[in-house]
Amino acid sequence: MPKVSVPNAKSNLPKEFLETIKKKLFDDKARLEKELTKFSKKETAEGAESTFPNYGDTEEDNAHEVADYEANLSIGNDLEKSLRDVKSALKKIENNEYGICKYCHKPIEQKRLLARPTSSACIECKKAIIQEV
Ligand SMILES: [Zn+2]
Repeated sequence: MPKVSVPNAKSNLPKEFLETIKKKLFDDKARLEKELTKFSKKETAEGAESTFPNYGDTEEDNAHEVADYEANLSIGNDLEKSLRDVKSALKKIENNEYGICKYCHKPIEQKRLLARPTSSACIECKKAIIQEV
C-alpha cells in the first residue's frame, strides 16, 4: 500500500471505490428502513396482542412477556442506530470526509471500509479503545 499524505484530513479515496461504498450504504439504508417499518408496523397496526403475547397470568409468565417486549425494543434501537451510522457515512462521502478516522484523522484502510462501510475509526484506534475499556 502506498503511503498517502493527508494534509487537511480530506478523503483521498478513488472515485470508483467511493461509488462501491455508496452503493453498499444505499442498499443497507433501504434494508434498514424496510426493517424499521416492519418493526414499527408490528408495534402499532397489529395491536398489543401480537407484540405483547399473553403467556399466562403467573408471575413467571409475566416476566417472560416483559423480556420479550424489551428484546423487541432493543432490536428497534439497534436498527435505528445502524441507520444513523449509514446516514452519517453517506453524509461524509458528500462532504469528502469519508474514510478518515475520527480519532487520529488518518485514512482508514480500504479493506476495512469495504468490509464495514460504516467504520469511522481505523483499526489501530479501535484496538486502543477496546483495550482501554
Ligand atoms: Zn485512527
